Amino acid sequence: MNTEPFVSFDNIAKRWNGQLGVENISIDIPEGTFVALLGPSGCGKSTTLRLLAGLEIPDEGSIHIEGTDVTEMAPSARNLSMVFQSYALFPHLSVAENVMFGMKVRKVPKDERLKKLENALRITGLLGYEERKPGELSGGQRQRVALARAIVAGQPLCLMDEPLSNLDAKLRHSVRKDIKKLQKDLGMTVVYVTHDQTEAMSMADLIILMKDGHIMQAGTPQELYNIPQNTFAAEFIGAPPMALIDGDVIPGTEHAHKVGLRTEDVELVEAGQGRISCTVSESEYLGDETHVLLDHPKAKGLVVKLHGYSSLQEGSSVDITFEDSALHFFDGDGKRIN
Ligand code: ADP
Ligand code: MG
Repeated sequence: MNTEPFVSFDNIAKRWNGQLGVENISIDIPEGTFVALLGPSGCGKSTTLRLLAGLEIPDEGSIHIEGTDVTEMAPSARNLSMVFQSYALFPHLSVAENVMFGMKVRKVPKDERLKKLENALRITGLLGYEERKPGELSGGQRQRVALARAIVAGQPLCLMDEPLSNLDAKLRHSVRKDIKKLQKDLGMTVVYVTHDQTEAMSMADLIILMKDGHIMQAGTPQELYNIPQNTFAAEFIGAPPMALIDGDVIPGTEHAHKVGLRTEDVELVEAGQGRISCTVSESEYLGDETHVLLDHPKAKGLVVKLHGYSSLQEGSSVDITFEDSALHFFDGDGKRIN
């Protein structure tokens, strides 16, 4: 059996005149995996993707695709398709011509071209726009043309850099599902850059969480959510993020610098009845539930979710309680203590 990863990064580093792009990047991606490169702006997501695409050459380390060393190979020789933030459409060609451009170059028969075109336009919600020029489309529509073009390319590896960032929330949600379904149906390996943890959590089989050019944690969405390896992951993953409480607040947790607690593990009780006393700072009513934000001088991000509407007054005193088993512990460097 071939156990080689489909894509692998081995200790990759990229710098520009000493300025750090990424460092110590090692990733193994099995075939057919949806990988999200996740992290805040400037953390090195696009650089990592561009290294895989061949648009950048690393200073250190090697990259393999299907066992072939592609570290210094031209982008065109890597058998991959790309969807980037900037759409890179031909302005003088119609939507249909833009989408079919690559297929025409590769001399795909016309029948097949038209069939693939229709499928891709249907998936991206662009049926009826075949004859428009990019200049006659909104930013979101142009992004979908770029997506359709990658879909018809039919390459086993597809790289996407924040492809949904120009779409409105509703469309983003539906295209997200379409991309995921397509990836599954075609068995494609997708490497997907996003700064949006919801997008990564809902789409990815494997999340690579990055900060300042380094990998902070790599794992399944469940692993990142349930077993964050550091306070960065704890606060980046989840909405709301994990609350972090100073270790000396809860008796018995003094060994930890910070104690993490997820909102679903927090229960609101009457003042004097719980384990930590807080003040209500703000309530966000969302219809089905209310997020009650709590203030404590030694805790950050404490939120309780209450069913329906809550009439808790700002400034009122409440207590929270929780099980010991719900607590996460982190040391002074922010690393998880197991
Ligand atoms: P992200 O996509 O996560 O927002 P990038 O990968 O674009 O981040 O950038 C990572 C870091 O590398 C940033 O500090 C950025 O300024 C730097 N960087 C990216 N490309 C270049 C470049 N061509 N020259 C110099 N620095 C760059
Ligand atoms: Mg980027």
